[in-house]
Amino acid sequence: MMGQRGIFIKNQQEIESMRRAGHINALALEAVRSLIQPGITTADLDAAATEVIRKRDAKPAFLGVPGAYPYPATITVSVNDEMVHGIPGKRKLKDGDIISVDCGTIFEGFVGDSAFTVGVGEISSPAQRLIEVTEMALSIGIDKLRAGNRIGDVGAAIQSYVEGEGFHLTREYTGHGVGRSMWEGPQVPNYGFAGRGMVLRTGMTIALEPMVLVGTPRTKVLPDQWTVASADGSLTAHFEHSVAITNNGPLILTV
Ligand code: MG
Ligand code: MG
Repeated sequence: MMGQRGIFIKNQQEIESMRRAGHINALALEAVRSLIQPGITTADLDAAATEVIRKRDAKPAFLGVPGAYPYPATITVSVNDEMVHGIPGKRKLKDGDIISVDCGTIFEGFVGDSAFTVGVGEISSPAQRLIEVTEMALSIGIDKLRAGNRIGDVGAAIQSYVEGEGFHLTREYTGHGVGRSMWEGPQVPNYGFAGRGMVLRTGMTIALEPMVLVGTPRTKVLPDQWTVASADGSLTAHFEHSVAITNNGPLILTV
């Protein structure tokens, strides 16, 4: 999901609100994760996330997002070759699938945005490795979200790790600022050159989200006009956290 806009520096109070939104988002994703098993439908997962968010008097951030048509659900579910933005429905998960779940929550006027990928039942060891590398790429990137670093430092660290492991990163989708809107500036690519780009500042809040592909960096949009899949049908994975840059380093908001 894309868009573009200004960069808004948050004060401590705003960051605390973002933590509360992020926490609800984490609870919604935990509820989804606990249900993932062969036979469950992706619509069931969506219902579980919606229930957690509504019970806390929060709102799903993805619902109604403009596109070819308004996004129709709380979470996105992207199975196997699908990378991001898959729409929940009647599809049943199968043993050996991998599923990426992304969710956004609005609370106290702020958005939490995070995602994970997990195996369904028993998965192959290459699939497991893809998931582990993608999760590690997120940690490596988060560690670069420090005042005084540049945006290129974040992307370069992610890129050198992921490509060094033999995987690929999309160039078509990036991380982004997050706050009162799900998409603020700056864009934060998962590739780039160390020492280049905007300087990061305390109070910036960033949704960092490496999207990793096995075969090539290329993607395609499926006929439903939302789902983004690898162009070659190879597996993909996606992890995301919303993170505040503080004087004490990166603070993960979506836990
Ligand atoms: Mg997301
Ligand atoms: Mg995001």
